[in-house]
Amino acid sequence: MTEQEPDNPLGAAERDIIALGIATASIILLVGTGGSVMPQVMDALTGAGGAPNVILVNALLLNIALIIFGWRRYRELTREIEERRRAEARARLLAATDPLTGCLNRRSMFEATEELRARAAMRGEAVAYCMIDLDNFKQINDMHGHSAGDAVLVMLCERIRALLPREARMARLGGDEFAFVMPFPAGHADRVDDLVIRLFESLVQPFRMPELTVELTLSIGLAADHDADGTIGLVVDAATLMHRADMALYQAKKQGRNRYFWFEATMESELRFRNQLETGIRRGLARGEFVPFYEQQVDLDSGALVGFEMLARWRSPQLGLISPDIFVPIAEEIGLINELSERLMEQAFADAREWDDTLTLSVNISPVQLRDPWFAQRILKKLVAAGFPPQRLEIEITESCLHENVGLVRSMIMSLRNQGVQIALDDFGTGYSSFEQLRNLPFDRIKIDRSFVSELKEPGNHSRLVEAIVSLGRGLDLPLTAEGVEDEEILQALKSMGRLKAQGYFYGQPEDAEGVRARLRSAGRLTGASTEGALAQRAAGEDAQTLYRIARP
Ligand code: C2E
Ligand code: CA
Ligand code: CA
Repeated sequence: MTEQEPDNPLGAAERDIIALGIATASIILLVGTGGSVMPQVMDALTGAGGAPNVILVNALLLNIALIIFGWRRYRELTREIEERRRAEARARLLAATDPLTGCLNRRSMFEATEELRARAAMRGEAVAYCMIDLDNFKQINDMHGHSAGDAVLVMLCERIRALLPREARMARLGGDEFAFVMPFPAGHADRVDDLVIRLFESLVQPFRMPELTVELTLSIGLAADHDADGTIGLVVDAATLMHRADMALYQAKKQGRNRYFWFEATMESELRFRNQLETGIRRGLARGEFVPFYEQQVDLDSGALVGFEMLARWRSPQLGLISPDIFVPIAEEIGLINELSERLMEQAFADAREWDDTLTLSVNISPVQLRDPWFAQRILKKLVAAGFPPQRLEIEITESCLHENVGLVRSMIMSLRNQGVQIALDDFGTGYSSFEQLRNLPFDRIKIDRSFVSELKEPGNHSRLVEAIVSLGRGLDLPLTAEGVEDEEILQALKSMGRLKAQGYFYGQPEDAEGVRARLRSAGRLTGASTEGALAQRAAGEDAQTLYRIARP
Protein backbone atom coordinates (compact mmCIF):
# COMPACT_ATOMS: atom_id res chain seq x y z
CA MET A 1 0.00 0.00 0.00
CA THR A 2 1.18 3.50 -0.78
CA GLU A 3 0.69 4.68 2.78
CA GLN A 4 3.92 2.93 3.80
CA GLU A 5 6.00 4.63 1.20
CA PRO A 6 8.75 6.73 2.89
CA ASP A 7 7.93 9.93 1.02
CA ASN A 8 4.25 9.77 1.83
CA PRO A 9 3.41 13.12 3.51
CA LEU A 10 0.69 11.50 5.58
CA GLY A 11 3.10 8.93 6.95
CA ALA A 12 5.52 11.75 7.78
CA ALA A 13 2.76 13.68 9.45
CA GLU A 14 1.90 10.62 11.45
CA ARG A 15 5.49 10.38 12.60
CA ASP A 16 5.47 14.10 13.37
CA ILE A 17 5.72 13.46 17.06
CA ILE A 18 6.47 17.01 18.19
CA ALA A 19 3.04 17.23 19.70
CA LEU A 20 3.45 13.88 21.35
CA GLY A 21 7.00 14.89 22.38
CA ILE A 22 5.71 17.99 24.11
CA ALA A 23 3.27 15.86 26.02
CA THR A 24 5.96 13.31 26.91
CA ALA A 25 8.42 16.01 28.03
CA SER A 26 5.69 17.56 30.11
CA ILE A 27 4.99 14.22 31.76
CA ILE A 28 8.69 13.84 32.66
CA LEU A 29 8.75 17.39 34.02
CA LEU A 30 5.54 16.65 35.89
CA VAL A 31 7.15 13.66 37.51
CA GLY A 32 10.19 15.81 38.37
CA THR A 33 8.40 18.86 39.68
CA GLY A 34 5.51 16.80 41.01
CA GLY A 35 8.04 14.78 43.11
CA SER A 36 9.09 17.85 45.06
CA VAL A 37 5.91 19.91 44.93
CA MET A 38 3.38 17.21 45.82
CA PRO A 39 4.84 16.44 49.32
CA GLN A 40 4.80 20.21 50.02
CA VAL A 41 1.21 20.42 48.84
CA MET A 42 0.22 17.41 50.95
CA ASP A 43 1.98 18.92 53.99
CA ALA A 44 0.25 22.24 53.43
CA LEU A 45 -3.12 20.51 53.10
CA THR A 46 -2.68 18.44 56.25
CA GLY A 47 -1.32 21.51 58.10
CA ALA A 48 1.99 19.79 58.66
CA GLY A 49 4.00 22.35 56.69
CA GLY A 50 3.95 25.85 55.21
CA ALA A 51 2.70 26.98 51.84
CA PRO A 52 4.33 25.19 48.88
CA ASN A 53 6.79 27.00 46.68
CA VAL A 54 4.67 29.17 44.36
CA ILE A 55 7.05 28.87 41.41
CA LEU A 56 7.09 25.09 41.64
CA VAL A 57 3.29 24.92 41.90
CA ASN A 58 2.98 27.18 38.85
CA ALA A 59 5.44 24.98 36.99
CA LEU A 60 3.38 21.96 37.96
CA LEU A 61 0.15 23.54 36.71
CA LEU A 62 1.88 24.61 33.51
CA ASN A 63 3.03 21.01 33.05
CA ILE A 64 -0.50 19.70 33.40
CA ALA A 65 -1.75 22.28 30.88
CA LEU A 66 1.00 21.28 28.47
CA ILE A 67 0.17 17.59 28.82
CA ILE A 68 -3.48 18.29 28.02
CA PHE A 69 -2.51 20.53 25.12
CA GLY A 70 0.00 18.05 23.70
CA TRP A 71 -2.37 15.14 24.00
CA ARG A 72 -5.25 16.95 22.38
CA ARG A 73 -3.03 18.16 19.55
CA TYR A 74 -1.82 14.63 19.01
CA ARG A 75 -5.40 13.33 18.91
CA GLU A 76 -6.45 16.03 16.41
CA LEU A 77 -3.51 15.26 14.20
CA THR A 78 -4.21 11.55 14.05
CA ARG A 79 -7.89 12.23 13.30
CA GLU A 80 -6.90 14.63 10.50
CA ILE A 81 -4.52 12.10 9.04
CA GLU A 82 -7.20 9.44 9.11
CA GLU A 83 -9.61 11.74 7.27
CA ARG A 84 -7.07 12.72 4.65
CA ARG A 85 -6.21 9.10 4.12
CA ARG A 86 -9.86 8.24 3.55
CA ALA A 87 -10.24 11.17 1.10
CA GLU A 88 -7.20 10.03 -0.79
CA ALA A 89 -8.54 6.49 -1.04
CA ARG A 90 -11.84 7.90 -2.30
CA ALA A 91 -10.05 9.99 -4.94
CA ARG A 92 -8.03 6.97 -6.00
CA LEU A 93 -11.20 4.94 -6.31
CA LEU A 94 -12.88 7.68 -8.35
CA ALA A 95 -9.91 7.91 -10.67
CA ALA A 96 -10.02 4.16 -11.19
CA THR A 97 -13.74 3.66 -11.64
CA ASP A 98 -16.57 4.74 -13.88
CA PRO A 99 -18.85 6.99 -11.82
CA LEU A 100 -22.07 5.76 -13.44
CA THR A 101 -21.68 2.02 -13.13
CA GLY A 102 -18.97 1.69 -10.50
CA CYS A 103 -17.00 -0.55 -12.86
CA LEU A 104 -13.29 -0.03 -13.40
CA ASN A 105 -12.41 2.42 -16.19
CA ARG A 106 -10.16 1.96 -19.18
CA ARG A 107 -7.05 3.12 -17.36
CA SER A 108 -7.42 0.89 -14.32
CA MET A 109 -8.55 -2.11 -16.37
CA PHE A 110 -5.10 -2.43 -17.82
CA GLU A 111 -3.55 -2.76 -14.38
CA ALA A 112 -6.33 -5.09 -13.19
CA THR A 113 -5.73 -7.35 -16.18
CA GLU A 114 -2.00 -7.52 -15.53
CA GLU A 115 -2.65 -8.36 -11.87
CA LEU A 116 -5.13 -11.08 -12.69
CA ARG A 117 -2.82 -12.56 -15.32
CA ALA A 118 0.00 -12.75 -12.82
CA ARG A 119 -2.21 -14.37 -10.18
CA ALA A 120 -3.73 -16.84 -12.66
CA ALA A 121 -0.31 -17.72 -14.08
CA MET A 122 0.93 -18.65 -10.61
CA ARG A 123 -1.92 -21.15 -10.34
CA GLY A 124 -1.27 -22.40 -13.89
CA GLU A 125 -4.53 -20.89 -15.10
CA ALA A 126 -5.32 -18.88 -18.23
CA VAL A 127 -7.22 -15.62 -18.50
CA ALA A 128 -9.78 -14.53 -21.07
CA TYR A 129 -10.34 -10.90 -21.94
CA CYS A 130 -13.80 -10.09 -23.20
CA MET A 131 -14.84 -6.90 -25.02
CA ILE A 132 -18.53 -6.09 -25.18
CA ASP A 133 -20.09 -3.50 -27.45
CA LEU A 134 -23.78 -2.71 -27.57
CA ASP A 135 -25.16 -2.76 -31.10
CA ASN A 136 -28.01 -0.31 -30.81
CA PHE A 137 -27.28 1.84 -27.79
CA LYS A 138 -27.07 5.06 -29.76
CA GLN A 139 -30.65 4.62 -30.87
CA ILE A 140 -31.78 4.15 -27.26
CA ASN A 141 -30.00 7.34 -26.26
CA ASP A 142 -31.39 9.24 -29.24
CA MET A 143 -34.93 7.99 -28.84
CA HIS A 144 -35.37 7.97 -25.07
CA GLY A 145 -32.78 10.43 -23.82
CA HIS A 146 -29.54 10.06 -21.93
CA SER A 147 -31.03 9.35 -18.52
CA ALA A 148 -32.85 6.30 -19.93
CA GLY A 149 -29.59 5.30 -21.63
CA ASP A 150 -27.73 5.63 -18.32
CA ALA A 151 -30.32 3.53 -16.51
CA VAL A 152 -29.95 0.79 -19.12
CA LEU A 153 -26.17 0.81 -18.71
CA VAL A 154 -26.46 0.42 -14.96
CA MET A 155 -28.90 -2.50 -15.28
CA LEU A 156 -26.74 -4.07 -17.95
CA CYS A 157 -23.72 -3.90 -15.68
CA GLU A 158 -25.60 -5.57 -12.87
CA ARG A 159 -26.65 -8.40 -15.16
CA ILE A 160 -23.12 -8.95 -16.39
CA ARG A 161 -21.67 -8.80 -12.88
CA ALA A 162 -24.16 -11.36 -11.65
CA LEU A 163 -22.72 -13.92 -14.07
CA LEU A 164 -19.01 -13.32 -13.59
CA PRO A 165 -16.81 -15.44 -11.36
CA ARG A 166 -15.68 -13.83 -8.11
CA GLU A 167 -12.19 -13.04 -9.29
CA ALA A 168 -13.22 -11.45 -12.60
CA ARG A 169 -12.72 -7.72 -13.07
CA MET A 170 -15.09 -5.65 -15.11
CA ALA A 171 -14.69 -2.23 -16.74
CA ARG A 172 -16.64 0.31 -18.71
CA LEU A 173 -14.24 1.39 -21.42
CA GLY A 174 -16.35 4.09 -23.00
CA GLY A 175 -19.96 5.05 -23.79
CA ASP A 176 -21.40 1.61 -24.50
CA GLU A 177 -18.23 -0.43 -24.41
CA PHE A 178 -17.56 -2.84 -21.59
CA ALA A 179 -14.90 -5.43 -20.87
CA PHE A 180 -14.18 -8.10 -18.35
CA VAL A 181 -11.24 -10.32 -17.66
CA MET A 182 -11.62 -13.68 -15.96
CA PRO A 183 -9.44 -16.64 -15.10
CA PHE A 184 -10.26 -20.11 -16.43
CA PRO A 185 -8.57 -23.50 -16.35
CA ALA A 186 -6.13 -23.57 -19.27
CA GLY A 187 -7.43 -25.75 -22.10
CA HIS A 188 -11.06 -25.23 -21.06
CA ALA A 189 -12.02 -22.22 -23.13
CA ASP A 190 -15.47 -23.84 -23.39
CA ARG A 191 -16.09 -22.56 -19.85
CA VAL A 192 -15.73 -19.06 -21.21
CA ASP A 193 -18.03 -19.93 -24.12
CA ASP A 194 -20.64 -21.15 -21.63
CA LEU A 195 -20.44 -17.93 -19.70
CA VAL A 196 -20.70 -15.81 -22.83
CA ILE A 197 -23.73 -17.76 -23.98
CA ARG A 198 -25.38 -17.21 -20.59
CA LEU A 199 -24.48 -13.54 -20.94
CA PHE A 200 -26.30 -13.31 -24.28
CA GLU A 201 -29.29 -15.11 -22.76
CA SER A 202 -29.41 -12.71 -19.85
CA LEU A 203 -28.95 -9.54 -21.88
CA VAL A 204 -31.50 -10.46 -24.49
CA GLN A 205 -34.17 -10.09 -21.79
CA PRO A 206 -35.88 -6.70 -22.09
CA PHE A 207 -34.71 -3.90 -19.78
CA ARG A 208 -37.78 -2.66 -18.01
CA MET A 209 -38.00 0.83 -16.61
CA PRO A 210 -41.05 2.55 -15.15
CA GLU A 211 -41.86 4.36 -18.38
CA LEU A 212 -40.40 2.20 -21.08
CA THR A 213 -38.88 -1.12 -21.99
CA VAL A 214 -35.87 -1.45 -24.23
CA GLU A 215 -34.13 -4.36 -25.86
CA LEU A 216 -30.46 -4.64 -26.60
CA THR A 217 -28.20 -6.74 -28.72
CA LEU A 218 -24.47 -6.89 -28.29
CA SER A 219 -21.32 -7.99 -30.03
CA ILE A 220 -18.46 -9.63 -28.20
CA GLY A 221 -14.79 -10.23 -28.93
CA LEU A 222 -12.70 -12.67 -26.86
CA ALA A 223 -9.00 -13.33 -26.52
CA ALA A 224 -7.11 -15.66 -24.20
CA ASP A 225 -3.51 -15.63 -23.05
CA HIS A 226 -3.20 -19.39 -23.70
CA ASP A 227 -3.79 -21.30 -26.92
CA ALA A 228 -6.92 -23.40 -27.39
CA ASP A 229 -5.63 -26.69 -25.95
CA GLY A 230 -4.10 -24.82 -23.05
CA THR A 231 -0.67 -26.41 -23.43
CA ILE A 232 1.23 -23.33 -24.40
CA GLY A 233 1.00 -20.31 -22.21
CA LEU A 234 1.35 -17.54 -24.71
CA VAL A 235 3.61 -14.64 -24.04
CA VAL A 236 0.83 -12.14 -24.27
CA ASP A 237 0.73 -8.99 -22.20
CA ALA A 238 -2.42 -7.16 -21.21
CA ALA A 239 -2.11 -4.66 -24.06
CA THR A 240 -1.90 -7.43 -26.67
CA LEU A 241 -4.75 -9.31 -25.05
CA MET A 242 -6.95 -6.23 -25.21
CA HIS A 243 -5.97 -5.48 -28.79
CA ARG A 244 -6.77 -9.05 -29.84
CA ALA A 245 -10.16 -8.99 -28.14
CA ASP A 246 -10.79 -5.74 -29.98
CA MET A 247 -10.00 -7.38 -33.32
CA ALA A 248 -12.34 -10.25 -32.50
CA LEU A 249 -15.03 -7.73 -31.62
CA TYR A 250 -14.52 -5.96 -34.91
CA GLN A 251 -15.03 -9.29 -36.65
CA ALA A 252 -18.24 -9.93 -34.69
CA LYS A 253 -19.60 -6.59 -35.79
CA LYS A 254 -18.54 -7.07 -39.36
CA GLN A 255 -20.26 -10.45 -39.49
CA GLY A 256 -23.57 -8.81 -38.63
CA ARG A 257 -23.41 -8.03 -34.88
CA ASN A 258 -25.27 -9.82 -32.08
CA ARG A 259 -22.62 -12.56 -31.94
CA TYR A 260 -19.21 -13.35 -30.48
CA PHE A 261 -15.85 -14.35 -31.86
CA TRP A 262 -12.59 -15.59 -30.38
CA PHE A 263 -9.49 -13.93 -31.72
CA GLU A 264 -7.75 -15.81 -34.53
CA ALA A 265 -4.43 -14.99 -36.13
CA THR A 266 -6.04 -14.44 -39.55
CA MET A 267 -7.98 -11.50 -38.11
CA GLU A 268 -4.76 -9.65 -37.61
CA SER A 269 -3.69 -9.98 -41.23
CA GLU A 270 -7.20 -9.17 -42.41
CA LEU A 271 -7.18 -6.03 -40.33
CA ARG A 272 -3.78 -5.08 -41.65
CA PHE A 273 -5.09 -5.48 -45.18
CA ARG A 274 -8.11 -3.41 -44.29
CA ASN A 275 -5.90 -0.66 -42.92
CA GLN A 276 -3.91 -0.72 -46.13
CA LEU A 277 -7.14 -0.40 -48.08
CA GLU A 278 -8.17 2.49 -45.90
CA THR A 279 -4.94 4.34 -46.57
CA GLY A 280 -5.20 3.43 -50.25
CA ILE A 281 -8.72 4.84 -50.45
CA ARG A 282 -7.71 8.12 -48.83
CA ARG A 283 -4.77 8.48 -51.16
CA GLY A 284 -6.74 7.28 -54.18
CA LEU A 285 -9.43 9.85 -53.57
CA ALA A 286 -6.88 12.63 -53.47
CA ARG A 287 -5.28 11.33 -56.67
CA GLY A 288 -8.52 10.88 -58.60
CA GLU A 289 -8.26 7.08 -58.85
CA PHE A 290 -12.02 6.58 -58.45
CA VAL A 291 -13.86 6.56 -61.74
CA PRO A 292 -17.42 6.02 -62.89
CA PHE A 293 -18.26 2.97 -64.99
CA TYR A 294 -21.58 2.68 -66.72
CA GLU A 295 -24.00 -0.18 -67.20
CA GLN A 296 -26.56 0.00 -69.99
CA GLN A 297 -30.24 0.13 -69.16
CA VAL A 298 -32.47 -1.12 -71.93
CA ASP A 299 -36.15 -1.15 -72.74
CA LEU A 300 -36.90 -4.86 -72.60
CA ASP A 301 -39.43 -4.87 -75.42
CA SER A 302 -37.68 -2.80 -78.01
CA GLY A 303 -34.13 -3.49 -76.89
CA ALA A 304 -33.45 0.26 -77.12
CA LEU A 305 -30.83 1.80 -74.89
CA VAL A 306 -32.58 4.20 -72.48
CA GLY A 307 -29.87 5.14 -70.01
CA PHE A 308 -26.94 4.08 -67.83
CA GLU A 309 -26.40 3.18 -64.20
CA MET A 310 -23.20 4.63 -62.86
CA LEU A 311 -21.14 2.06 -60.93
CA ALA A 312 -18.09 3.21 -59.03
CA ARG A 313 -14.67 1.64 -59.68
CA TRP A 314 -11.32 2.18 -58.04
CA ARG A 315 -8.38 2.07 -60.42
CA SER A 316 -5.73 1.32 -57.86
CA PRO A 317 -2.17 1.35 -59.23
CA GLN A 318 -1.24 -1.38 -56.72
CA LEU A 319 -4.35 -3.54 -56.66
CA GLY A 320 -5.90 -3.07 -60.08
CA LEU A 321 -9.59 -2.40 -60.74
CA ILE A 322 -11.51 -2.73 -57.47
CA SER A 323 -15.25 -3.28 -57.12
CA PRO A 324 -17.45 -1.00 -55.01
CA ASP A 325 -18.43 -3.92 -52.76
CA ILE A 326 -14.89 -3.66 -51.38
CA PHE A 327 -14.37 0.07 -51.03
CA VAL A 328 -17.86 1.52 -50.52
CA PRO A 329 -18.35 -0.05 -47.04
CA ILE A 330 -14.91 1.18 -45.96
CA ALA A 331 -15.51 4.66 -47.36
CA GLU A 332 -18.80 4.69 -45.44
CA GLU A 333 -17.08 3.67 -42.25
CA ILE A 334 -14.27 6.20 -42.45
CA GLY A 335 -16.60 9.05 -43.37
CA LEU A 336 -15.46 9.49 -46.96
CA ILE A 337 -18.52 8.25 -48.79
CA ASN A 338 -20.01 11.71 -49.32
CA GLU A 339 -16.86 13.08 -50.87
CA LEU A 340 -16.31 9.97 -52.96
CA SER A 341 -19.87 9.88 -54.22
CA GLU A 342 -19.96 13.58 -55.03
CA ARG A 343 -16.70 13.43 -56.98
CA LEU A 344 -18.03 10.50 -59.00
CA MET A 345 -21.28 12.32 -59.63
CA GLU A 346 -19.43 15.37 -60.90
CA GLN A 347 -17.55 13.18 -63.36
CA ALA A 348 -20.71 11.33 -64.33
CA PHE A 349 -22.65 14.54 -64.94
CA ALA A 350 -19.83 15.75 -67.16
CA ASP A 351 -19.76 12.44 -69.05
CA ALA A 352 -23.53 12.23 -69.41
CA ARG A 353 -23.80 15.76 -70.78
CA GLU A 354 -22.07 14.48 -73.89
CA TRP A 355 -24.69 11.82 -74.39
CA ASP A 356 -27.93 12.11 -76.28
CA ASP A 357 -30.16 13.97 -73.86
CA THR A 358 -32.86 11.30 -73.89
CA LEU A 359 -30.46 9.00 -72.02
CA THR A 360 -30.89 8.89 -68.24
CA LEU A 361 -28.21 8.55 -65.60
CA SER A 362 -28.81 6.49 -62.44
CA VAL A 363 -26.57 6.84 -59.40
CA ASN A 364 -26.41 4.70 -56.27
CA ILE A 365 -26.64 6.47 -52.95
CA SER A 366 -25.47 5.01 -49.67
CA PRO A 367 -27.72 5.08 -46.59
CA VAL A 368 -24.93 6.99 -44.84
CA GLN A 369 -25.33 9.86 -47.32
CA LEU A 370 -29.01 10.13 -46.51
CA ARG A 371 -28.23 10.92 -42.89
CA ASP A 372 -27.13 14.36 -44.03
CA PRO A 373 -30.20 16.62 -43.85
CA TRP A 374 -28.70 18.76 -46.64
CA PHE A 375 -28.27 15.83 -49.00
CA ALA A 376 -30.99 16.92 -51.45
CA GLN A 377 -29.69 20.49 -51.52
CA ARG A 378 -26.17 19.29 -52.21
CA ILE A 379 -27.27 17.16 -55.14
CA LEU A 380 -29.34 19.98 -56.59
CA LYS A 381 -26.42 22.37 -56.26
CA LYS A 382 -24.17 19.91 -58.08
CA LEU A 383 -26.74 19.57 -60.87
CA VAL A 384 -26.89 23.32 -61.29
CA ALA A 385 -23.11 23.65 -61.24
CA ALA A 386 -22.77 20.95 -63.91
CA GLY A 387 -25.68 22.27 -65.96
CA PHE A 388 -27.17 18.78 -65.93
CA PRO A 389 -30.97 18.54 -66.30
CA PRO A 390 -32.50 17.04 -63.11
CA GLN A 391 -35.02 15.15 -65.25
CA ARG A 392 -32.23 12.96 -66.59
CA LEU A 393 -31.04 11.94 -63.14
CA GLU A 394 -32.33 8.96 -61.21
CA ILE A 395 -31.24 8.38 -57.61
CA GLU A 396 -31.19 4.75 -56.44
CA ILE A 397 -31.70 4.19 -52.74
CA THR A 398 -31.86 0.82 -51.07
CA GLU A 399 -34.43 -0.42 -48.61
CA SER A 400 -31.92 -0.19 -45.78
CA CYS A 401 -32.15 3.62 -46.12
CA LEU A 402 -35.72 3.41 -45.00
CA HIS A 403 -35.16 2.08 -41.49
CA GLU A 404 -32.95 4.91 -40.45
CA ASN A 405 -35.17 7.95 -40.50
CA VAL A 406 -38.13 7.61 -42.78
CA GLY A 407 -39.28 11.17 -42.09
CA LEU A 408 -36.00 12.68 -43.21
CA VAL A 409 -35.70 10.37 -46.22
CA ARG A 410 -39.22 11.25 -47.24
CA SER A 411 -38.58 14.98 -47.16
CA MET A 412 -35.37 14.53 -49.17
CA ILE A 413 -37.19 12.48 -51.77
CA MET A 414 -39.81 15.19 -51.97
CA SER A 415 -37.30 18.01 -52.51
CA LEU A 416 -35.45 16.06 -55.18
CA ARG A 417 -38.66 15.09 -56.97
CA ASN A 418 -39.89 18.67 -56.88
CA GLN A 419 -36.90 19.54 -59.03
CA GLY A 420 -37.59 16.68 -61.41
CA VAL A 421 -35.10 14.06 -60.12
CA GLN A 422 -36.46 10.49 -60.23
CA ILE A 423 -36.15 8.18 -57.24
CA ALA A 424 -35.81 4.40 -57.58
CA LEU A 425 -36.00 1.81 -54.82
CA ASP A 426 -32.95 -0.39 -55.45
CA ASP A 427 -32.43 -4.07 -54.63
CA PHE A 428 -36.11 -4.42 -53.93
CA GLY A 429 -37.01 -7.53 -51.96
CA THR A 430 -33.67 -7.90 -50.17
CA GLY A 431 -34.52 -5.57 -47.29
CA TYR A 432 -37.54 -5.07 -45.15
CA SER A 433 -39.55 -2.26 -46.67
CA SER A 434 -43.17 -2.65 -45.78
CA PHE A 435 -46.02 -2.35 -48.18
CA GLU A 436 -47.04 0.71 -46.19
CA GLN A 437 -43.67 2.40 -46.85
CA LEU A 438 -43.88 1.61 -50.53
CA ARG A 439 -47.28 3.20 -50.69
CA ASN A 440 -46.37 6.25 -48.66
CA LEU A 441 -42.95 7.06 -50.08
CA PRO A 442 -43.17 8.62 -53.50
CA PHE A 443 -40.87 6.34 -55.50
CA ASP A 444 -40.77 6.57 -59.27
CA ARG A 445 -39.51 3.06 -59.87
CA ILE A 446 -38.70 -0.27 -58.25
CA LYS A 447 -35.58 -2.23 -59.17
CA ILE A 448 -35.95 -5.99 -58.81
CA ASP A 449 -32.79 -7.34 -57.25
CA ARG A 450 -30.69 -9.59 -59.42
CA SER A 451 -30.82 -12.39 -56.83
CA PHE A 452 -34.49 -12.87 -57.76
CA VAL A 453 -33.98 -12.33 -61.46
CA SER A 454 -31.18 -14.90 -61.60
CA GLU A 455 -33.60 -17.56 -60.38
CA LEU A 456 -35.39 -17.29 -63.70
CA LYS A 457 -32.43 -19.14 -65.16
CA GLU A 458 -33.01 -22.23 -63.04
CA PRO A 459 -34.96 -24.99 -64.72
CA GLY A 460 -38.51 -25.36 -63.43
CA ASN A 461 -40.86 -22.69 -62.25
CA HIS A 462 -38.89 -20.16 -60.31
CA SER A 463 -40.55 -17.13 -61.70
CA ARG A 464 -43.25 -16.79 -59.05
CA LEU A 465 -41.27 -14.40 -56.85
CA VAL A 466 -40.37 -12.12 -59.76
CA GLU A 467 -43.99 -12.30 -60.95
CA ALA A 468 -45.16 -11.32 -57.48
CA ILE A 469 -42.81 -8.33 -57.39
CA VAL A 470 -43.88 -7.29 -60.87
CA SER A 471 -47.56 -7.44 -59.95
CA LEU A 472 -46.84 -5.51 -56.74
CA GLY A 473 -45.22 -2.81 -58.84
CA ARG A 474 -48.17 -2.75 -61.20
CA GLY A 475 -50.56 -2.56 -58.24
CA LEU A 476 -48.70 0.47 -56.95
CA ASP A 477 -48.48 1.92 -60.43
CA LEU A 478 -44.67 1.91 -60.29
CA PRO A 479 -42.48 1.13 -63.32
CA LEU A 480 -39.92 -1.64 -62.80
CA THR A 481 -36.34 -2.38 -63.76
CA ALA A 482 -35.00 -5.93 -63.67
CA GLU A 483 -31.29 -6.20 -62.77
CA GLY A 484 -28.98 -9.06 -63.61
CA VAL A 485 -30.27 -10.07 -67.03
CA GLU A 486 -27.48 -12.43 -67.94
CA ASP A 487 -28.82 -14.46 -70.83
CA GLU A 488 -31.53 -15.04 -73.38
CA GLU A 489 -33.43 -17.36 -71.06
CA ILE A 490 -33.89 -14.71 -68.39
CA LEU A 491 -34.70 -12.16 -71.05
CA GLN A 492 -37.51 -14.30 -72.46
CA ALA A 493 -38.90 -15.09 -69.01
CA LEU A 494 -39.04 -11.37 -68.23
CA LYS A 495 -40.56 -10.45 -71.56
CA SER A 496 -43.63 -12.47 -70.70
CA MET A 497 -44.17 -10.27 -67.66
CA GLY A 498 -45.01 -7.06 -69.43
CA ARG A 499 -43.29 -3.74 -69.81
CA LEU A 500 -39.95 -3.54 -67.98
CA LYS A 501 -36.58 -1.89 -68.13
CA ALA A 502 -33.69 -4.31 -67.93
CA GLN A 503 -29.97 -4.29 -67.34
CA GLY A 504 -27.31 -6.94 -67.00
CA TYR A 505 -24.33 -8.65 -68.55
CA PHE A 506 -26.49 -9.82 -71.44
CA TYR A 507 -26.23 -6.27 -72.74
CA GLY A 508 -22.58 -5.97 -71.88
CA GLN A 509 -20.28 -5.43 -68.91
CA PRO A 510 -20.13 -2.01 -67.29
CA GLU A 511 -17.63 0.14 -69.17
CA ASP A 512 -15.76 3.35 -68.53
CA ALA A 513 -16.57 6.79 -69.93
CA GLU A 514 -14.44 6.24 -72.99
CA GLY A 515 -16.16 2.91 -73.74
CA VAL A 516 -19.58 4.53 -73.45
CA ARG A 517 -18.48 7.40 -75.64
CA ALA A 518 -17.32 5.00 -78.34
CA ARG A 519 -20.56 3.02 -78.12
CA LEU A 520 -22.70 6.14 -78.38
CA ARG A 521 -20.60 7.64 -81.14
CA SER A 522 -21.11 4.62 -83.31
CA ALA A 523 -24.83 4.68 -82.54
CA GLY A 524 -24.93 8.38 -83.41
CA ARG A 525 -26.09 9.23 -79.93
CA LEU A 526 -23.40 11.63 -78.80
CA THR A 527 -24.32 15.30 -78.82
CA GLY A 528 -22.73 17.16 -81.70
CA ALA A 529 -20.68 19.46 -79.52
CA SER A 530 -19.02 16.60 -77.72
CA THR A 531 -18.21 14.76 -80.94
CA GLU A 532 -16.31 17.85 -82.01
CA GLY A 533 -14.86 18.00 -78.54
CA ALA A 534 -13.66 14.41 -78.82
CA LEU A 535 -11.92 15.21 -82.06
CA ALA A 536 -10.39 18.29 -80.52
CA GLN A 537 -9.25 16.23 -77.56
CA ARG A 538 -7.68 13.57 -79.68
CA ALA A 539 -5.88 16.23 -81.65
CA ALA A 540 -4.62 17.96 -78.55
CA GLY A 541 -4.11 14.76 -76.53
CA GLU A 542 -5.90 16.32 -73.60
CA ASP A 543 -7.86 14.68 -70.86
CA ALA A 544 -11.62 14.26 -70.56
CA GLN A 545 -12.02 17.26 -68.26
CA THR A 546 -10.43 19.53 -70.83
CA LEU A 547 -12.58 17.98 -73.52
CA TYR A 548 -15.60 18.97 -71.52
CA ARG A 549 -14.43 22.53 -71.21
CA ILE A 550 -13.70 22.79 -74.93
CA ALA A 551 -17.08 21.29 -75.77
CA ARG A 552 -19.01 23.51 -73.39
CA PRO A 553 -17.16 26.63 -72.43
P1 C2E B 1 -26.18 -2.66 -57.54
O1 C2E B 1 -26.73 -1.29 -57.39
O2 C2E B 1 -27.11 -3.80 -57.36
O3 C2E B 1 -25.46 -2.70 -58.91
C1 C2E B 1 -25.51 -3.76 -59.79
C2 C2E B 1 -24.34 -4.66 -59.60
O4 C2E B 1 -24.58 -5.85 -60.30
C3 C2E B 1 -23.06 -4.09 -60.19
O5 C2E B 1 -22.00 -4.58 -59.42
C4 C2E B 1 -23.03 -4.73 -61.56
O6 C2E B 1 -21.73 -4.80 -62.10
C5 C2E B 1 -23.56 -6.09 -61.25
N1 C2E B 1 -24.21 -6.68 -62.39
C6 C2E B 1 -24.79 -6.05 -63.39
N2 C2E B 1 -25.30 -6.92 -64.28
C7 C2E B 1 -25.07 -8.14 -63.79
C8 C2E B 1 -25.34 -9.47 -64.25
O7 C2E B 1 -25.93 -9.69 -65.29
N3 C2E B 1 -24.94 -10.50 -63.47
C9 C2E B 1 -24.28 -10.30 -62.33
N4 C2E B 1 -23.91 -11.35 -61.61
N5 C2E B 1 -23.98 -9.06 -61.87
C10 C2E B 1 -24.38 -7.99 -62.60
P2 C2E B 1 -20.90 -3.62 -58.93
O8 C2E B 1 -20.54 -2.61 -59.94
O9 C2E B 1 -19.80 -4.47 -58.35
O10 C2E B 1 -21.60 -2.85 -57.76
C11 C2E B 1 -21.96 -3.49 -56.60
C12 C2E B 1 -22.78 -2.60 -55.73
O11 C2E B 1 -22.02 -1.50 -55.24
C13 C2E B 1 -23.94 -1.97 -56.47
O12 C2E B 1 -24.98 -2.88 -56.50
C14 C2E B 1 -24.24 -0.77 -55.62
O13 C2E B 1 -25.07 -1.13 -54.55
C15 C2E B 1 -22.88 -0.43 -55.05
N6 C2E B 1 -22.36 0.75 -55.76
C16 C2E B 1 -21.83 0.86 -56.98
N7 C2E B 1 -21.46 2.12 -57.24
C17 C2E B 1 -21.79 2.85 -56.15
C18 C2E B 1 -21.66 4.24 -55.80
O14 C2E B 1 -21.20 5.09 -56.57
N8 C2E B 1 -22.11 4.60 -54.57
C19 C2E B 1 -22.65 3.71 -53.71
N9 C2E B 1 -23.07 4.14 -52.52
N10 C2E B 1 -22.78 2.41 -54.00
C20 C2E B 1 -22.35 1.98 -55.21
CA1 CA C 1 -28.14 0.04 -58.14
CA1 CA D 1 -28.87 -5.01 -56.89
